[in-house]
Amino acid sequence: MSLTEITTRILKAEELAGRPKGSAQLIAVSKVQPNARVEAVLEQGHRLFGENKVQEAEGKWPDFKQQFEGVKIHLIGPLQTNKVKNAVALFDAIHTVDRPKLARKLATEIQTQGKSPDMFIQVNTGEEPQKAGVIPADADAFIKECRDLGLPIIGLMVIPPVDEEASLHFALLRKIAQRNGLDGLSMGMSSDFERAVALGATHVRVGSAIFGARDYG
Ligand SMILES: *Cc1c(COP(=O)(O)O)cnc(C)c1O
Repeated sequence: MSLTEITTRILKAEELAGRPKGSAQLIAVSKVQPNARVEAVLEQGHRLFGENKVQEAEGKWPDFKQQFEGVKIHLIGPLQTNKVKNAVALFDAIHTVDRPKLARKLATEIQTQGKSPDMFIQVNTGEEPQKAGVIPADADAFIKECRDLGLPIIGLMVIPPVDEEASLHFALLRKIAQRNGLDGLSMGMSSDFERAVALGATHVRVGSAIFGARDYG
C-alpha cells in the first residue's frame, strides 16, 4: 500500500460515516522504519508521524524537523517517568498518559519547560494485564485527576486486544470520551483504521500499511 492509498481510504471512510473531510487525522507510525522510507513519505508532503520510543524518536526527528517544515510527532508508546523531560521537549502530543505518577511528573515538567504537548489518556478497554492503560472503571476518576493537575487532556487512546473485534473497543472508548466531554479519539491501526473512522476516530495510527512491514532483525 502507499500513503496516497491510505489517505484515500480514510477520506472514503469519513464520507461513508457522514463526517467532515479531514476530521480523522493520519498519524504515520514510523517506528523501526529505515530513514529512507520515512523521508519518502515526508517528500510526499505528509507531516504527522508517530513514534513509540522516546530515544528512537530523538535519534531521527530533530534532523527531519530541520529539513521539513511543519513536522509534528506524537508519542504513541509507553512513557517511563525518567523520560518525561525529553518527551515533553520533543513531542507535539503524548497518547499514553495512564497512571497518576506519570501524570504528576508531566504536570511538573510542563511547568518547568513552559510548553506542553497535547495529551491523550490510554484506556485498557480489554483489561489485559500485560497492557498499559487505565481500566474503564477507573477512567472517569483518572481523567478528573489529570484535569485537576492542569494537564491538557484532549482525548482517549486505545489498542484493542488482538483477538477481539476492535469495533467493540472503539465504541467503548468513544462512550467513555463522550461522558467526560472529550473530543479526541486515538484509535485504529493498519488492519482496522476504517472501522475506527466509522466510530469517530480523530487520529488513526497507521504504520505498516504505509511504510511496509517493520524489520526488527
Ligand atoms: C506500531 C503501532 C501502531 C501501528 O501499527 P501498524 O499495525 O503497523 O499500523 C499503532 N499504534 C501503536 C500504539 C503502535 O505501537
